[in-house]
Amino acid sequence: MKVKKLLFLLVLVCLLGCYAGSVKPLLNRPEFKAENEPIRTLRVLLITDHSYQKEEIEKFVSKCSRLAEVQVGIRLEIIDWYQIKWEDELNDIIKTEIRIARDTWSKRDKFDIAITFVYFVHNLAGGHLPLGATDTFFWRYIFVRELDPYILLHELFHAFLFERDHSKDWVMRGARPSYGSEWYWLTPEDRKEVLRNKWRDFNVMPAAGQEEKRSKESWFYYHMGAAYLQKREFDQAISLFNKSLEINPRYAEAYETRGMVYSSREQYDQAIADFNKALEIDPRLAEVYFSRGRAHYFKGEYGKSWEDIKRAEDLGYKIPAEFLNKLRRASDPK
Ligand SMILES: [Zn+2]
Repeated sequence: MKVKKLLFLLVLVCLLGCYAGSVKPLLNRPEFKAENEPIRTLRVLLITDHSYQKEEIEKFVSKCSRLAEVQVGIRLEIIDWYQIKWEDELNDIIKTEIRIARDTWSKRDKFDIAITFVYFVHNLAGGHLPLGATDTFFWRYIFVRELDPYILLHELFHAFLFERDHSKDWVMRGARPSYGSEWYWLTPEDRKEVLRNKWRDFNVMPAAGQEEKRSKESWFYYHMGAAYLQKREFDQAISLFNKSLEINPRYAEAYETRGMVYSSREQYDQAIADFNKALEIDPRLAEVYFSRGRAHYFKGEYGKSWEDIKRAEDLGYKIPAEFLNKLRRASDPK
C-alpha cells in the first residue's frame, strides 16, 4: 500500500516539475523557435574504432542532431568518416586529442567538429572516469564513450561554451545523473551562451585572454609537431614547430626539439642555432648542452663538443658512455 502511494507521488512530481529549469517546456513557443533561426549545419567528421558499428553511430548522431536543433538550431551532418587504429594514446586524453588533430590536420577546413567514438580510459582527479571529452584548444575534437545523447550533447555544447564551468543542472552538469528522465536539455542561461557563439569558426582557437591564448596555441602546435616527429614526418614537424615559435618566440622546448629534428637530418648548423636559442632562454637545460655537443661532434668540432659535454655533466646530465667513447676516440686518435 505504502509503496503504491509513493510511486503515485513520484509520478505526480515527475509530471509536474520534471523539466523545470530546462528549456524543454519552452520548445514549442513561437518566440523560442524564432531564436533558433537560422539553422547552422555543422559538418561532422566521424571517427570510429571497433567500439561501435557505424550504423548505430549514425542513428545516434541523427537523434542528437534533432535534440540540438530544437534547442539551439544546430544540426549535425556527417560529411565523412574513417576507422582509426590506436597506438598507445588511449590512457591519456591529451595524447588522444593530439592524435586526432594530427590525423585530421590536412582536412581541417573541410569539417567543423570531429566526433570520435571510442572507449578511452582517462582518470580524472578523484578516480572519476569521464564519459566524454572535448579538447580545450579548438573545442572541436569530441570524444564519446557511450551512445547516450546526454554525453554527446554535453560535449557538443562545450564546443560553444568554451571555458565556462559546468552548470548545476541539466545537460551541462558535470556528471550524468543516475536517475530521472532525459537530461538532454540546456538551461535557458546556457542556451543563451550557446546561441551567442553559434556561428563560431572552428579553426580558430577561442581562449579567454590574449596571453593565455598565445601560450595555448603555441603549446598545441608544439605537441602537434612532436606527434609528427614520432611518425618521422620531419617536414610537417618542422612547419608546426615554426608555427609554435612564431606565436611564442620564447619557447625553449620548441627550439630544442626543432634542433633535434635538424640534427637527425644532419643539418648541424641549423641545429646548433636552435640549441643556442633554447639555452639563451633557459641556460639550465642540461640535455640541450648534450644535444649541441653531439652536433659539434658530428661537425668535427671536438673542442666545442667537450665544452658542452662538461656543462651538461655539471648540470647533472648523464652522458651515454657510448657517445663519450666515440668523442674520446675522435678527439684523441692514438
Ligand atoms: Zn563537461
